[in-house]
Amino acid sequence: AVDGGEAGLNAFLHVSRDEALATAEEVDAVRAAGGAEAEALHPLAGVPIAVKDLIVTVGQPTTAGSRMLEDWMSPYDATVVERIRAAKLPILGKTNLDEFAMGSSTEHSAYGVTRNPWDTDRIPGGSGGGSAAAVAAFEAPLALGTDTGGSIRQPGAVTGTVGTKPTYGSVSRYGAIAMASSLDQIGPVARTTEDAALLHELIAGHDPKDSTSLPDEVPAFGAAARTTDVSGLRIGVIKQLQGEGYQEGVLARFQESLEALRAAGAEIVEVDCPSFEHALSAYYLIMPSEASSNLARFDGVRYGARVEPEDGPLTIERVMGATRAAGFGDEVKRRIILGTYALSAGYYDAYYGSAQKVRTLIQRDFAAAFEQADVLISPTAPTVAFPLGEKLDDPLAMYLNDVATIPANLAGIPGISVPGGLASDGDGAALPVGIQFLAPAREDARVY
Ligand code: GLN
Repeated sequence: AVDGGEAGLNAFLHVSRDEALATAEEVDAVRAAGGAEAEALHPLAGVPIAVKDLIVTVGQPTTAGSRMLEDWMSPYDATVVERIRAAKLPILGKTNLDEFAMGSSTEHSAYGVTRNPWDTDRIPGGSGGGSAAAVAAFEAPLALGTDTGGSIRQPGAVTGTVGTKPTYGSVSRYGAIAMASSLDQIGPVARTTEDAALLHELIAGHDPKDSTSLPDEVPAFGAAARTTDVSGLRIGVIKQLQGEGYQEGVLARFQESLEALRAAGAEIVEVDCPSFEHALSAYYLIMPSEASSNLARFDGVRYGARVEPEDGPLTIERVMGATRAAGFGDEVKRRIILGTYALSAGYYDAYYGSAQKVRTLIQRDFAAAFEQADVLISPTAPTVAFPLGEKLDDPLAMYLNDVATIPANLAGIPGISVPGGLASDGDGAALPVGIQFLAPAREDARVY
C-alpha cells in the first residue's frame, strides 16, 4: 500500500458514507418487511455504486476534477443519478477523473493521480480512471462513467473491468458536465458483462431534458448478457485496429480471443475501415472545438471559482482571464486554445469542416463493415497500463492511446470493453488486456 486513503489509490474524490449507509439500511428494512414493496425493489437495489465526478449530484460535491469547480455543489441531480436513487442504489461517492474528462490516464486531475490497483506505479486509464480503479479494487461493485473518446472503455481495458459506451442519445446526458456534446455518452462500469448490462438497462431510456435523447424502448440488456451462444455470429476484425503501435502481448491476447470465438462457433471475417487512419486527427479537432465552446461558461461569474486580478480595474474580461488562468489546468487550456483556433474565421473550413467530413467517412466505413459483420472486434487499447508520468509531457503519445476507441464516438455507435487476459509490456508483471466489441447504433444488446 502507498500513502493516502483507500490503500493509496485515490479513486474517490468524495466518499458519502452516511448517505450510502442510509440507503442501504432503507433497502434492508424493505426487504425484511417483505410483501409487495419488497417485491417491487429493483434487482440492483442495495448494490453500491460510485459516480464519476463529472456527473452532478445533489448533496455531494461535483468538481469535474478541476479547481474551477472546487467545493461546487449542484442544485440538481443528473437524470442517471435520479434513476439510480429511485432504484435505491447506495451512492458511495464521486470518483476521480482527468480534468473535465480530458485525458487517458487520470493524471490530469487537479486532485492528484489515481493509481491502477494492479500496479500502483501505473495509470488506471482515463478519463474515468477513478471509476475503473474503484471497481477493479473491489471498492465498489458498480460505477458510472462518461465516454467521449474512450473514457469508459480504455480504463476498463487497463484495469480488467467491463465498461460500455452506449449508443449516442440512448442514455440521458442531462447533468453530465459537457465536454464535447456530440460525442459524450454516460455508461456503466462493472466487473462482469451482466452487471454492466443491468446497470445499462437502469440508466437508459428517453429523457425529455436531453434534446438528443432517443425515444426508443430500452431492450433487456441483462437477458442479452446471459446469452452466451455466439454460433453463427459474424464478427468483423477491423484491419486498421491492430498491428503497428499495438504491443505484442496485446495482439497475442487478441488472437486468442478470436480463436476462442471461432471455436465457440462464431464466423470471423476481416473488415476494412480505411478512414480510421484519420479518426484521431478528426477527433482531436472536433472534441476541442466543442469543448472550447462548452467551457466558455466557466467565466468567474456563473459557476464555481472566481479569481480577481491582483491590480487594475475589475472588468469582466480581466476577471474572466484571471479565473480561467488559475482555474484550468494545462491540458484543458491546450484544448481550449486548439478548439478556439479550429473554429476561428478563416480556419473553420480547413480544420473543423474537414474533420466533420472525416466523421462522415468513418460513419460510412462502419456502415459498410456492418454489412459484412454483426459486431466488430478490436483490442480496446494498443497497450497495457503504462507507467505514471510516461506520457504526461507528450500529449500526442497520450492521444494515440485512444486510437481504437475514438471511431465509435465519432459514429455514435455502442461499444464495450471486456477483459481479455493478461500480458506484460516486457517491463514487469502481466497486466489486463481489453477486448472491444462494437455494434451498429441502437443495437447495444448485441455487444453483450
Ligand atoms: N482520452 C480521450 C480524450 O482525452 C477521451 C476522453 C473521454 O472519453 N472523456 O479526449
